[in-house]
Amino acid sequence: MNAILLTIGDELLAGTTVNTNAAWMGAELMARGFRVVRVEAIGDDSEAICQALRRSRTEATVVILCGGLGPTHDDRTREALAACLNRPLRLVPEVLAQIEAHFKRRGRAMPERNRVQALVPEGFEPIPNPVGTAPGLWLQDETGIVVALPGVPHEMQTLMRETVLPRLEQLPGRPVVLQRMLVTAGIGESHLQERLTGVEALLDDHVQLAYLPGPYGVRLRLTVAAATEEEARRRMETLLSFIQKRITPYLVGMDGEPLEVVVGRLLRTLGATVAVAESCTGGHLADCFTNVSGASTYFRGGVVAYDNTVKVDVLGVDPEVLAREGAVSEAVALQMAQGVRTRLGATVALSTTGIAGPTGGTPEKPVGTVWIGLADAHTAFARRYYLPDDRLRFKQRVTAMALDLLRKHLLQKETPAPASSASR
Ligand code: ATP
Ligand code: MG
Repeated sequence: MNAILLTIGDELLAGTTVNTNAAWMGAELMARGFRVVRVEAIGDDSEAICQALRRSRTEATVVILCGGLGPTHDDRTREALAACLNRPLRLVPEVLAQIEAHFKRRGRAMPERNRVQALVPEGFEPIPNPVGTAPGLWLQDETGIVVALPGVPHEMQTLMRETVLPRLEQLPGRPVVLQRMLVTAGIGESHLQERLTGVEALLDDHVQLAYLPGPYGVRLRLTVAAATEEEARRRMETLLSFIQKRITPYLVGMDGEPLEVVVGRLLRTLGATVAVAESCTGGHLADCFTNVSGASTYFRGGVVAYDNTVKVDVLGVDPEVLAREGAVSEAVALQMAQGVRTRLGATVALSTTGIAGPTGGTPEKPVGTVWIGLADAHTAFARRYYLPDDRLRFKQRVTAMALDLLRKHLLQKETPAPASSASR
């Protein structure tokens, strides 16, 4: 069943508001077996809204408009619907009472302007808005369904969750949709694609694979639609096992969990603790670790050793080694990791030292060069990477590499269980 999203507002065209509503609604509808065939952004212009609505109704059973239901003169959706579908606006007293009550709860009188929000095009059903003033609007006729929702994201989401999605779920003829989000690390999009050569044979309109690259790694979204749950599961299983076998070393998880969650669970399972010594990541690694609830059971802390004197004075890096090898070197990465591990009393430690750029590169150590160190009671090693990028993405990529280095190290420590990386 097709759906089209019409997002309304000059701010969406000007780029001052990012169209997060379209992304949110699209994902929710796809997960329920609707095929979102188009998303449009339209200015605050009745004629443009009407044209888009007419065209969309010929292409999709469900058309959802979002935005422009406010009380101000630039909110045109209500009048556009009325004019376009030839359904005159009527004041609905119950809706007016709800809007008045909304203001009363806040101890204020309803401004006269807000009266327009109680106007409902004939044949539309108002959808109560428990978190704002503008009600949603619902029409179901012989052509299909038209829904109008307020643009404020949490209002739109509340109305979708409480009323629109449950109603849409009642519509017959939708397939069962299953989705999985595979998280990978340490491999680029094209190498991933190379490893998955042959997967095309398993894909069609109902079995889809999307590559979603980001600074922390490439995620793979698998979507399967089928007439029955059993059929959907079978096809998902086939696709999953094909992919899993080919990318095992790079596969962090299959439930969309980010690296720091997976690494956190490994640390907890092993009863291990971690500390970090960060130069070029400037605290981003510690930030990621502490984004996870319960991190205090395994994350000891970190030192941002940006200046060389901090590397020496706080972490105990040998100043002669520093002078000889430079801050961005294997030896310094090793000593940073060892130093923070003993000083913070952690089982294992990570370190980062690199050249974020855009200045500071040399022919031997160009911008993007980074050493990541790892130390525990038995071993210490450092790996060199080359990740040229802007400063923020550089930090994110280095952080992901460091987390993945630790993940692989911890997996070796775990009592070898069959397919341990794939089962998390
Ligand atoms: P209200 O009754 O609050 O005026 P409305 O239906 O008129 O609701 P808009 O005026 O279009 O909604 O938008 C209100 C705010 O919601 C905007 O300032 C914008 O920040 C946000 N918004 C609108 N549309 C979107 C969108 N597609 N994605 C993300 N945010 C949006
Ligand atoms: Mg508005």
